[in-house]
Amino acid sequence: MSAPPSYSFELFPPRTPEAEAKLPAVIAQLAAARPSYFSITYGAGGSSQDGTYQTLMTVVRHTGAEAAPHLTCVGSTRAEIAALLDRYREAGAKRIVALRGDLPATAMSPAAPGDFHYANELVSFIRETHGNFFKIEVGAYPEMHPQAPSPGVDFENFRRKVEAGADSALTQLFYNADAYFDFMERCVKAGIKIPVVPGIMPITGYANTVRFCAGCGADLPRWVRLRLEELENDKPALVKFGIEVVTRLCETLLANGAPGLHFYTVNQAGPTLRLLKNLKLPGLDL
Ligand SMILES: Cc1cc2nc3c(=O)[nH]c(=O)nc-3n(C[C@H](O)[C@H](O)[C@H](O)COP(=O)(O)OP(=O)(O)OC[C@H]3O[C@@H](n4cnc5c(N)ncnc54)[C@H](O)[C@@H]3O)c2cc1C
Repeated sequence: MSAPPSYSFELFPPRTPEAEAKLPAVIAQLAAARPSYFSITYGAGGSSQDGTYQTLMTVVRHTGAEAAPHLTCVGSTRAEIAALLDRYREAGAKRIVALRGDLPATAMSPAAPGDFHYANELVSFIRETHGNFFKIEVGAYPEMHPQAPSPGVDFENFRRKVEAGADSALTQLFYNADAYFDFMERCVKAGIKIPVVPGIMPITGYANTVRFCAGCGADLPRWVRLRLEELENDKPALVKFGIEVVTRLCETLLANGAPGLHFYTVNQAGPTLRLLKNLKLPGLDL
């Protein structure tokens, strides 16, 4: 018998005092679903490393659940990354989401400035300095990373992260299940056996979904975009449609071998919990 699917929740550090005040309640609601872990972004949207640490501590203090910081290496020195790893280890983190991070818009080369150019170097550094203490998650791009010259080259770069010691991967958001299955076939052919967990972004609006997809190069199927546009001014109908589309996506992924789901919660409990409820996962009574 295969293991029941895992599920994990991504949070970002709140950007306003109001959002910060609301976050513990959101975390408590999400924690009731007993996720494998929470992950906390860094840098996206201008958040600071201290914001990541504070949110990590909020998760730990309020729930006792496992919390994994995202660690981006763009523009960092080895000494800075070493200090952060020590700080997270002292805080009880046992898992790191290891990423390059997005380059400044003015960047002339795909290699990040600083001591680390690509995420595979960060993975190697974590292994060199902490052995197997941390479980390391890396990013995967079923629809190709937007800066890669081709899917094949991008896949070889994914393989470098696996060979450097990644334990597991989380994908960029996508709405085409076939892109994930194609990526998994390429993993099988390449002998890559680590779990690759789909990243799931609930659909809660038209403009934000279009923006999220454009920002990371994800394909939003035309029919979904047109339906969302049509429903833009009817929020309840749009949310219902979005939940249906993403529930089907999750069902298809799980029915065809995805080892779990990683939800981009955008710091909202409702849409993610609704999706989980629809999925009726074994042992989860919501
Ligand atoms: C699950 C997940 C969580 C994320 N969380 C955050 C976050 O918290 N904060 C944030 O700022 N961003 C986050 N991102 C976005 C991520 O930082 C960007 O997508 C970034 O541009 C790439 O990061 P990476 O770790 O995948 O990079 P890499 O794996 O280093 O790849 C980046 C690009 O370089 C190429 N490449 C990789 N290695 C090499 C090599 N050795 N030689 C030549 N080319 C190479 C790849 O093909 C790709 O085009 C997240 C992405 C994912 C999928």
